Amino acid sequence: MSMTLPYAEPLISREPGERVIPEPPRRGEPGGPPCAICDGQTTSAVWSDDNWTLHPPVGGSLPGSVWLASRVHADSFSDLPEPLQSDFGRVAARVERGILSLGDVARVHLYRWGDGGAHFHVWFIPRPLGMVEASGMMLPLWEDVLPNVPDEELAAAAERVAAAM
Ligand SMILES: [Zn+2]
Repeated sequence: MSMTLPYAEPLISREPGERVIPEPPRRGEPGGPPCAICDGQTTSAVWSDDNWTLHPPVGGSLPGSVWLASRVHADSFSDLPEPLQSDFGRVAARVERGILSLGDVARVHLYRWGDGGAHFHVWFIPRPLGMVEASGMMLPLWEDVLPNVPDEELAAAAERVAAAM
């Protein structure tokens, strides 16, 4: 079995819509809503150091999923101060190790979308062991379609990730 969409066929492709230029402002950029991360409107951090905070998601389906944010309000990799750019690899390895320690995880996927908010954050999503149809770009789609687990379960798993870092 290879990676498979979490939708039954027939699916038909469609053309992209008209481009929206300029794009709508994102959270935390001029003209947009306030930055939820800077305003503390997110889930509480389960782990932090001088540079980073680690948070559980809400409304998710894969326990062990977490997102890592910079303490500084910067947009993407190229906007981070250079010491943080290099420190990201170190902390990403620790988060990955923490997620793998939960067991039943094949691989840890990283996603940096940046389309919702302008504050640097990267998602770490565990692909369940043996769930090969959710390989590659299919994992976020499966994550969306699978039934959500209680937020308390997501937070507890994130606490275990933090404890194993
Ligand atoms: Zn911010």
